[in-house]
This record gives sequence, structure tokens and C-alpha cells, in this order.
Amino acid sequence: MKLLMMGPPGAGKGTQAKKIVGDYHLSNISTGEMFRDSYRKKESLGLLAMEFIRDGHLVSDEITIEIVRRRLFESNKEKNFLLDGFPRTIFQAEALADMLDVMQSSLDAVIQIVVSDDVILTRMVGRRSCSICGATYHLDFKPPKVENVCDSCGGVLYQREDDKRESVKNRLDIYKIKTQPLIEYYKSRGLLYEVDGEKSFEGVYQEIKAVLEGLA
Ligand SMILES: [Zn+2]
Repeated sequence: MKLLMMGPPGAGKGTQAKKIVGDYHLSNISTGEMFRDSYRKKESLGLLAMEFIRDGHLVSDEITIEIVRRRLFESNKEKNFLLDGFPRTIFQAEALADMLDVMQSSLDAVIQIVVSDDVILTRMVGRRSCSICGATYHLDFKPPKVENVCDSCGGVLYQREDDKRESVKNRLDIYKIKTQPLIEYYKSRGLLYEVDGEKSFEGVYQEIKAVLEGLA
């Protein structure tokens, strides 16, 4: 099974992906992880990628495609995987289709976790982090026992820049602009499956599972 999972920041994509990968024995192919790994090995690809990341840019299509290509072809042709963080552009999506074509294969499904902006804002803007140990809380869903104080170490809680309303809104806008073309691309190829990301973790997981069972 070859899967792709998409969803806005705060949609719970990472935790769902982890469970799916475990349950279906898929390799989790994460471009972010491969870049970090390649960087640690001081490979030119990883060093180049880190330059983009350090400057706050998306890694170029060429470098991204190359690192995925190596993974798909050199690790004895991955047969079952879930792609994370790739493709991010139509160009990358077409490169992926070409690579899979060479492997005489294709994607089975693209799962899109759909969550409204309001729900994402509530989830993210309420987050608080401990200034000392990094533990995370949520004003509504997981409040500390004492207001603004970390349960485990007594540190002061604060709101990360990333979790502030304007920052979240901004990331949601960027996500939409960037991924809308990809969503259309996969929809037109009959590969897109939408799941309701506003359900509980278990509810979302069951929806994804239903999609995957339907493919078999
Ligand atoms: Zn703490």
C-alpha cells in the first residue's frame, strides 16, 4: 500500500500517521527526517537541504525529489509506505508519479484530514508550554492544576510564538495556497479521500481505516 497523508497544521496528521504506519506495517517516509539524517552523515544533499531550512525556505524541488528517489530506489524498492511532507508541489507530485511508474506502481490513496480553521485555531491558540521542561498543556483540553504553572516541574507556562493567533492564521493561509493545487491534482485522478478531522482521535482513525479497508 502506498499512501500520502495531507492536512493543515494542527490537524493531527502526525499522530494518525504514526498509528497507521504501525498497524499496516508501512515505512514512514518523511522528507524532514531524511534531510536531517543526510545532514548528520554530512552528505552534500543533506548539507544543501539544511541551508534552505535554516533560511526558513522550503527545500528546492530538485533536492527534495532526489532524496525521495534515493530512498525509493536504493532501499530495495519500498512496496508499502506512507509519505509525509512530500510532495509539496505539483512538480514534486509529477516526479513521484514518474518514479512509481518506473517501479511499475502507483499511489493507492491520498488521505486528506479536513478540519475547519476555527477548530484549528481553538486547538492551537489554547496551547501552553512549560518554560523549563517543555511539557505542553491546553487551556481547555488539558489545563494545569494551578493556572500558568507546570504540573511536573513548577515552571511558568507561556504561549509559543507559533501558537499565537496571527501566526496560526498565517500558516493556515500559506497551507491552503500551497496545497490547494495538490488537492485538485489528486482529486482529478480519483485518489483523494477526505476524512473528518474534527472527530476524536479514535473517530478520525476509524474513518481512515475504513478508507484503507475499502482499497483492499
Ligand atoms: Zn515543566
